[in-house]
Amino acid sequence: MKNGYIFLGAPGSGKGTQAKKLLDASGIPSVSTGDLIRSEIKRETPLGLECKPYLTSGKLVPDTIIVRMFKQWVETHAVATFISDGFPRTIEQAKVFDVLISQELGYTVTIVFFKVGLKTLKKRILGRRICPKCGNIQNEFFNPPLVSGQCDRCASAFETRIDDTEEIIQTRYDSYLESTMPIIEHYKSQVITIDAEQGPDEIFVSIRKQLSV
Ligand code: AMP
Repeated sequence: MKNGYIFLGAPGSGKGTQAKKLLDASGIPSVSTGDLIRSEIKRETPLGLECKPYLTSGKLVPDTIIVRMFKQWVETHAVATFISDGFPRTIEQAKVFDVLISQELGYTVTIVFFKVGLKTLKKRILGRRICPKCGNIQNEFFNPPLVSGQCDRCASAFETRIDDTEEIIQTRYDSYLESTMPIIEHYKSQVITIDAEQGPDEIFVSIRKQLSV
């Protein structure tokens, strides 16, 4: 059976962390439109330059650009099961997802909704530290590095995301409320809700149990 899991939730709700955990534990690949965009920006491609102003102001990148990126990933990764982290994020994107993933490619679609409050989100986002070398993610508040500013796994200097700032968080959260929350209503019966106030290991157990993966 072909399964497409949409990880849906506010920025900082833990979607990316859980997608990585599932890849390690069950080998389920994931596509993160945010990661695709950051990679384009880092390589300073024309697409990256086009997307950068949106990302750095916390606004959503236009649907046409995102849809193109997502379709390209799906076409080059013909997998039986996948996680989509951060796509769809608007109703327009959800409609494209439904036609391509459900109707044309025959995946069964389940939405995993990460439910969490703004106070927790802010702490997670402002404390987030990412290792550019090994991909390890830690948090200054919840699992601080043993040596300040250094990755516990490979000792490389940690980086922070350019949009993980106090000012941009509010814009990202507003976009989420306005554009992404209506998707929950769009999918209704296909939604599984996870209490994402919990720690990463507890969230992981809940997801595996609910999805049977
Ligand atoms: P994320 O890594 O998912 O938090 O995404 C970071 C940023 O990338 C967002 O704030 C948007 O600017 C952009 N982005 C990622 N996914 C989408 C999407 N599906 N639609 C529009 N913009 C997106």
